[in-house]
Amino acid sequence: MAAHAPLVVVMGVTGSGKSTVGEALSERIGLPFAEGDDFHPPSNIEKMSGGTPLNDDDRLPWLDAIASWLAGRTASGGIISCSALKRRYRDRLAGAVDGLFFLHLDGSPELIGERLEERRDHFMPKGLLRSQFDALEPLTADENGATISVAGPPEGVVQRSLDAIRAPYPLQLAPGVHAYVQPDGGWCLSNAGFVSDGTTTLLVDTAATESRALKLRDTVLASGAPQPTMVVNTHHHGDHTYGNSVFAPAAAVIGHRNCRAEVAANGKQLHLLWPDNDFGEITVNPPNLTYDDTLTLHVGDTEVQLIHPGVAHTTGDTIVWLPQQRVVFTGDLAFHGGSPFIPMGSLTGSLAALDLLRSLGARTVVAGHGSVTDPGVFDATERYLRFVADLAQEGYAAGRTPLEVARTADLGEFAALREPERLAPNLHRAYAELQGRPPGVPLDPLQVFGDMAELNGGTMPTCHA
Ligand SMILES: [Zn+2]
Repeated sequence: MAAHAPLVVVMGVTGSGKSTVGEALSERIGLPFAEGDDFHPPSNIEKMSGGTPLNDDDRLPWLDAIASWLAGRTASGGIISCSALKRRYRDRLAGAVDGLFFLHLDGSPELIGERLEERRDHFMPKGLLRSQFDALEPLTADENGATISVAGPPEGVVQRSLDAIRAPYPLQLAPGVHAYVQPDGGWCLSNAGFVSDGTTTLLVDTAATESRALKLRDTVLASGAPQPTMVVNTHHHGDHTYGNSVFAPAAAVIGHRNCRAEVAANGKQLHLLWPDNDFGEITVNPPNLTYDDTLTLHVGDTEVQLIHPGVAHTTGDTIVWLPQQRVVFTGDLAFHGGSPFIPMGSLTGSLAALDLLRSLGARTVVAGHGSVTDPGVFDATERYLRFVADLAQEGYAAGRTPLEVARTADLGEFAALREPERLAPNLHRAYAELQGRPPGVPLDPLQVFGDMAELNGGTMPTCHA
């Protein structure tokens, strides 16, 4: 299972089918499953079997034990059942586990009451069920999760749950500010974001296929925001720019001067790498509004600063920084749960970009790929890049090729990241810098991608879009 596989809390009132659905999901996607009820300390069990309801203080050690089970599975993924009826219980779990997904199994009191009556092993007085419904605080837009109806046959509930776990989702980060996350953040599953005051909408990045871009547009509109009139591209890569054609020409496409040049020069870049993938109707739309160093845009009262960090992930990166909300969209200057990727940019430039990102003082970080996180991702990215630099220095001095070095490298903590095959192209860039070649100078794509495929067992990694 890939790193940063889903971590899911199956929540809902008693009788909603948390264990049944959780176990079925666990079987379908090969993730470990645990019963949240097994994590109660003995004192709680004593209380409950004596008929005394638990209070919030009793629940804290229980929630913390569940959180620590989940936190121990960030690499493998995992599913756990937990009623998590109240927002503050969910906040306690979500605060301890990055990217946690809440799957709320939802049904009317009548339906769930009926199902409980059918289950002879699980006696529950009607009043207790009513008290659960009274306590239930449904998921809100700023929580990461989905509400699934338990009506109909169980196979349908499981399928809908599975679709929800894998589906792209918006996450409200501040009033009018959303991230748009595409799990699990692997190849071509990039993040986007949108900022709106209800009159003007600015979109950050546009996904890799026409159908994903259309879904993104539907999500923006469903939030109540109007059609975007500004689209910012964080860089030229197709998974961030292919969907431009869904939003242009109604929207100005804004990017760094080099991003425009790279989009134009690289054309249908993803088609070359993944000729069999269905990208839909894509036309190449380079930014038609460019800037050099910084550019400030305004969405109502919200200031959106575009900052070019120099050559880093590519030659034309843009950091999208919202100083009032302390939210930053990094593009691929940072990956959350995935390996960084620098063959089209610079290793030293990427480290400098991380310093710049840290200096902003962001509270919330939307990386180019992976779930929404915090500035800790900058440190994780830096550790990986320094590891690449060290490997390159040794390998270069010893006269070994990047592929040889990549093949024998001990990945250590980085083995848990997605896309380990990126080590080969990253070493190519590090070698180029050791040879004194300028940042961002084009490397031979056949060699870079050829070595990556070699490291990946002789085939190109799969595009997941
Ligand atoms: Zn990229």
